[in-house]
Amino acid sequence: MENLQNKTEYCLNCKNKPCQLGCPLGNDIPEFIRLAKEHKYKEAYEALSKTTVMPFICGKICPKSKQCQGKCIRGIKGQPVSIGEIENAIGEMAIQNKWYEDVEKPATNGKKIAIIGAGPAGITASIWLAKNGWKVKVFEKHKKIGGILRYGIPEFRLEKRYIDVLEQYMQKLGIIIETNKMLGKDFEIKELLEKYSTVFLSEGANVSNKMGIPGEELGQVMGANELLEYENHPDYSGKKIIVIGGGNVAMDAARTIKRMGAKEVTVVYRRAIEQMPAEPKEVEEARNEGINFLFQVNVKSIESKKAYCIRTQLVQKDGEARLVPVEIPESKFAIDADYVVMAIGAKLNNTGVENIELTEKGYIKIDEMYKTSIPHVYAAGDNTGGVSTVAWASFYGREAAKNIDKNE
Ligand SMILES: Cc1cc2nc3c(=O)[nH]c(=O)nc-3n(C[C@H](O)[C@H](O)[C@H](O)COP(=O)(O)OP(=O)(O)OC[C@H]3O[C@@H](n4cnc5c(N)ncnc54)[C@H](O)[C@@H]3O)c2cc1C
Ligand code: SF4
Repeated sequence: MENLQNKTEYCLNCKNKPCQLGCPLGNDIPEFIRLAKEHKYKEAYEALSKTTVMPFICGKICPKSKQCQGKCIRGIKGQPVSIGEIENAIGEMAIQNKWYEDVEKPATNGKKIAIIGAGPAGITASIWLAKNGWKVKVFEKHKKIGGILRYGIPEFRLEKRYIDVLEQYMQKLGIIIETNKMLGKDFEIKELLEKYSTVFLSEGANVSNKMGIPGEELGQVMGANELLEYENHPDYSGKKIIVIGGGNVAMDAARTIKRMGAKEVTVVYRRAIEQMPAEPKEVEEARNEGINFLFQVNVKSIESKKAYCIRTQLVQKDGEARLVPVEIPESKFAIDADYVVMAIGAKLNNTGVENIELTEKGYIKIDEMYKTSIPHVYAAGDNTGGVSTVAWASFYGREAAKNIDKNE
């Protein structure tokens, strides 16, 4: 507690709240920290609850250096305020003291909605709608809810007990959860619209992208997203594995594989460490766990037990926000790789949404009110190609819910 107090005291409670602008959910950070500073923890939790339903989760795994803490005034000359840790601590208190359960089933407004997918976007939308009197049923293809929070982010980074708390909260609000039910396999959108006035699609986008290089169809090449989602791992003992990519998915795949007994795990990234999308903390922890890194290297082809690579130099090109990796001629080399894992982004699985208009990039097309091309069908989260973080997915779910409540 003393530690928490020190962390809250460090906050300057700025009037113009730059940190709040950095938070996708718009959490009133100076306010909840002020309340925590005054030991008013329940009030701090209530301040957070105005904008978020998962403070214990976001506080833990948000890429804070790119969101709230990246905008903290304290961070200009030194360390930013530990916003995430304070938020997580308050969320923990809400769980321990059962403030989370302090909720009554709202009076019904007679409207029924079906929500497809129980990740951050679907969970958040279901809670906001249920609180506004909607009768909500959530359909989830997996055995349990959580989306990538459960079937992706490893336990060593996010304890699954947090998702169980969310599930209990949803049940208290009267939300019905039907698991092992998949859109496109067990039912279609058309059938749902016969039973529900509105449908909300939040099925994420978790199909690993491919690089389009020779050899990627080989059995030893795997997609990181599927590997982490289905945990269909081969035996890594004594093996050398390379993971291609520089984001959180690459870090989670590399660390999981290393913990499963691989002899050597190397992350191959075509830019430099400074450009890695992964949080610096995750990179540091991966390094401490013995993961190797090869920066400014691109993989060009894969053969049995070998990956053929080329070095890159980073060039500033007109119209490009990021430095562009350009291959250096005559710099080819090969590395040993029993398995190659691709973690270079993910796309939508369009099973069940074949009749919906998609964007050029293959995501579900929505308008500013989160409406899809089918009347009474809304969508939000990774499936619409939004910014792929938990807080953003939760924000999209919350805003879509507000629009559904207003329009339907
Ligand atoms: C390995 C990994 C690590 C990550 N680490 C972080 C991190 O540290 N911090 C961070 O902020 N973000 C992280 N992200 C990104 C973040 O997890 C996602 O942006 C977020 O989960 C997206 O939420 P969503 O609700 O849109 O989709 P998802 O979380 O993907 O949830 C979609 C849900 O829909 C279900 N579903 C899919 N298809 C169907 C269907 N046809 N019928 C029924 N149900 C269906 C899925 O099973 C799933 O439960 C990570 C992503 C990955 C893959
Ligand atoms: S939700 Fe994430 S970005 Fe927002 S204040 Fe919490 S940790 Fe920061």
